[in-house]
Amino acid sequence: MAETQDQTQSVVLDGVTKRFDSFVAVDDLSLELSRGEFFTLLGPSGCGKTTTLRMIAGFERPSAGEIRIEGDDVAALPPHKRPTNTVFQSYALFPHLSVEANVAFGLKRKKVGKDEIAERVATELKRVGLAADANRRPSQLSGGMQQRVALARALVNLPKVLLLDEPLGALDLKLRKGLQVELKRIQREVGITFVYVTHDQEEALTMSDRIAVMNHGRVEQVAVPEEVYDRPSTTFVAGFIGVSNLMPASVAGTGQVRLDQGQTIATSTAGFAEGQRCHAVVRPEKLRVELLDGAGGTDADQTRVEGIVESSLYLGTATQIAVDLGGGVRMTVLIPNADEAERQRLPGGGARVALSWEPEHMHIVSESPNGEGAQEKQDLETTREVDANA
Ligand code: ATP
Repeated sequence: MAETQDQTQSVVLDGVTKRFDSFVAVDDLSLELSRGEFFTLLGPSGCGKTTTLRMIAGFERPSAGEIRIEGDDVAALPPHKRPTNTVFQSYALFPHLSVEANVAFGLKRKKVGKDEIAERVATELKRVGLAADANRRPSQLSGGMQQRVALARALVNLPKVLLLDEPLGALDLKLRKGLQVELKRIQREVGITFVYVTHDQEEALTMSDRIAVMNHGRVEQVAVPEEVYDRPSTTFVAGFIGVSNLMPASVAGTGQVRLDQGQTIATSTAGFAEGQRCHAVVRPEKLRVELLDGAGGTDADQTRVEGIVESSLYLGTATQIAVDLGGGVRMTVLIPNADEAERQRLPGGGARVALSWEPEHMHIVSESPNGEGAQEKQDLETTREVDANA
């Protein structure tokens, strides 16, 4: 890493490791965040997101490595001396103080002048849409409103970096969606760096400029949302972001991949060696499904595999079809319910079908070097189910 400070850099983590006794929670993590960036740490429970955030905030000390904020090594600084503020999932407001007094609290302790406090508090309450609620108590506010107070309380200190640890985690789905949009607007407006921790892939895709996908204390991919979704780098990222549509394959030669299903398909094999095992990924909405009448598919159309429909699920806006390709490989297809007559014609359970896709919608990923985190994935599925019911 360059020794000279780049003026566009905000938070820099250089080889940061955190051990709790012999357990490695964060493992040799290096990240460079730009100023004004909305940067998300995304991953399953226990992957080390919160520990990373707490080290940036100063609540935890790294066991090794360096953290710099706008060029300064912050190792020796306690949390309140760092140019950061943290918003937690639990709003941690003073119940006996008004909204206004809660937001003013930190400035009063810093002995900021009365007029300036009044002005800055008013600005932030307006920003978060609570100008009319300044005299209310936290108990008189909804969860979403309380989190806005917590946000105003953090922003009023004019931090260079705002750290947010699952701030919308306690809110119901509808409220969360609304606040996601608003948080993004506020971040653009204030123009400071946001470091956002979430296990919710949709939230990360919606809000972030860049996402770091973490697994077992390590980062598996850092990229803009479109890239993480369209071109995941490992089987873990492909499975964590969206539905895991992975077809086992091996690299047949430069630019050629042979699916275990038998087809050889032209695709980029950059970074892979000939003969290397890999998985081909195609996202559910990029797959077409076609009923086979017994004749089978043609060899000419190579971006095509055959299987048996396991289930067909009506989701309102789309129909989700699970297709068993054999050999333990299961693909999910998502078809928008744009036309009712078309939907009626979709193949049902037990039907023999062909799946096809445009070659540019397939790419290959390597096995995750950090394991697949089966337990975490199970937890994640449960979380998604609970979310869906919220
Ligand atoms: P979650 O969303 O569930 O909080 P996370 O990705 O934020 O997950 P961390 O809270 O960073 O994960 O925890 C990473 C790992 O470190 C976990 O296995 C956790 O049990 C462990 N850990 C965190 N804090 C401590 C601690 N103070 N002592 C011992 N182990 C800890």
